[in-house]
Amino acid sequence: MDIAKRAKELSEYIISIRRELHSCPEIDHDLPVTESVIARELSKLGLDDVKSGQGSGHGIYATLNGKRDGDVLAIRSDMDALPVKENTDLPFASQNNFMHACGHDAHVAMLLGAARILSEQREELPGTVRFIFQPAEETIGGATSMIKSGALENPEVNEIIAIHTGNLWSGVAPGAIGFRAGAMMAATNAFKITLHGHGGHGATPHLTVDPIVMAAEVISELQTLISREINPFDPAVLTVGRIEGGTAHNIIAESCEMRAMFRAFSPKVAELLKERVVATVKGIAKTMRGSADVDFFLDIPAVMNDKNIALKMRNVVSESLGSEYAQELELPSSVSEDFAFYLQKIPGALFFHSAALSEGHNYPHHNPKFDIDESTLWSGAASLAAYALRR
Ligand SMILES: [Zn+2]
Ligand SMILES: [Zn+2]
Repeated sequence: MDIAKRAKELSEYIISIRRELHSCPEIDHDLPVTESVIARELSKLGLDDVKSGQGSGHGIYATLNGKRDGDVLAIRSDMDALPVKENTDLPFASQNNFMHACGHDAHVAMLLGAARILSEQREELPGTVRFIFQPAEETIGGATSMIKSGALENPEVNEIIAIHTGNLWSGVAPGAIGFRAGAMMAATNAFKITLHGHGGHGATPHLTVDPIVMAAEVISELQTLISREINPFDPAVLTVGRIEGGTAHNIIAESCEMRAMFRAFSPKVAELLKERVVATVKGIAKTMRGSADVDFFLDIPAVMNDKNIALKMRNVVSESLGSEYAQELELPSSVSEDFAFYLQKIPGALFFHSAALSEGHNYPHHNPKFDIDESTLWSGAASLAAYALRR
């Protein structure tokens, strides 16, 4: 079967779904219209099982059993938009205050295209394919909610893949698949530090414990963690983005609050930094006669691509679409992805699909003018279907 040819024939269908979803964006876990569009399309395919109402209410997963022996592959698409007011001239632009400014509308459309190709190829399909449509990628939590709903069970899923479209990586030809073994997207850990001192008069510091001086020490010591304790070939970055404490020039504050984050690629580095941030902050506070609390409020693991799966995709894409459609990515992205939570459970890989527009028409993801080159979407659907058929 010529998968590329079939996907090109479905191009119009894929684009029409993308446009339909683009015009009615929904965010976070609250995606009833998106869910109903996906359920409507899946119901036409004669799949073995379609479960809607999953996750925190609007996630969907569906199952297709092939006629040949094989294991269980999951393909995941996110489906949430962003609280961004669209500012494009597209005839199908959003009419509400949300926008598909990250391409998740196209992810759904491409996965529906792939599901359609695979449902036509049951006789040739090895094993089982589980299609996962998850909410809340942007807000984080959608993947976990789907895992809790059983999206990786009955039957037990052995591996998972996904693609992210758009212009996240530059230099990849439009329509090509960017692959990478190992680190693909960064881990993010964000935390709040509260430094507790003992307030008093600025003229008598010996009668107080000054949390502002403590904060100064904490800021430089945290940077020293990156420069002195992390292998320079294992990159990490730490930023204190917010600091708040004190009220007037002559008052020593009771407490001082800071918000900070670090990003790393290796899970080992993220674990080490987590431990060392807490020890460093508490140690400084104690030495300076105060105390500290460190609360992590965001903890997203890195997307670490399984080497075999990444290379299998390269081979499958080269064979089915042409070698020019498989491009190795030199560097990972410092953006984080909720897909990482599936990879905590089973091996898998995330791929990049370039839908970059020509020079001058490209806007960054999450920008009110963000758009994609729809004519490339067939290759995303073809790659997913080809992987399922020829993995
Ligand atoms: Zn995004
Ligand atoms: Zn995205």
